[in-house]
Amino acid sequence: MTKIEELQQLISASDNIVFFGGAGVSTESGIPDFRSVDGLYNQQYKYPPEVMLSHTFYAERTAEFFDFYRKKMIIPAAKPNKAHYKLAELEKAGKLKAVITQNIDGLHQMAGSKMVLELHGSVKRNYCERCKKFYDDSFILHSVGVPTCSCGGPIKPDVVLYEEGLDQDITQQAVAYISKADVLIVGGTSLVVYPAAGMIDYFRGNKLILINRAATSTDRKAHLLIQDSIGEVLGQISAG
Ligand code: ZN
Repeated sequence: MTKIEELQQLISASDNIVFFGGAGVSTESGIPDFRSVDGLYNQQYKYPPEVMLSHTFYAERTAEFFDFYRKKMIIPAAKPNKAHYKLAELEKAGKLKAVITQNIDGLHQMAGSKMVLELHGSVKRNYCERCKKFYDDSFILHSVGVPTCSCGGPIKPDVVLYEEGLDQDITQQAVAYISKADVLIVGGTSLVVYPAAGMIDYFRGNKLILINRAATSTDRKAHLLIQDSIGEVLGQISAG
């Protein structure tokens, strides 16, 4: 039996699958990974991304923050890939209970997924810090300098910046889904980003599936390990 056939069997036999995804799910849609060698670290910036996307930088150099944010974080042309679409299909078929993602691009929802837990927030949502009015990513993209609300308050992306903690409510929901799942598929992440990566330790089942191009720290715990593109792998799976 091939690994794809084994994956198909595990998916076909379950109606309680949870997917936990990282940057690799989005890189196949043309969104750069901050931490990979061919990601943003290799580009020419005055500061590394983890500085420019920190709470301190946002608070102290807000205009520079938004300059970088508009250029690098909002990618309007990005479209869902085979992985996003297959996960949405699996949810619709009643097999997948939740997508937990470290990505902030909103591509799972664009592909049709409903239960998406965004651990690091989303560039699609931005709120006035004073009156909480909502603004979409297009508003931020087309704003100049520091985007401001009609009330005059500053608008902040609903994205978890470096130095900021994860949303407790979303974290708890994610842990609940993971701890109740009977199949956990972890894809497109090398599981190095904590605290998010530590969440898979809450999985109590014995069907942990890891799909990632590179080796991960959790490979030895996997029931099924596939070192390949997440889009190519899930693209071969039938949801029916
Ligand atoms: Zn406001």
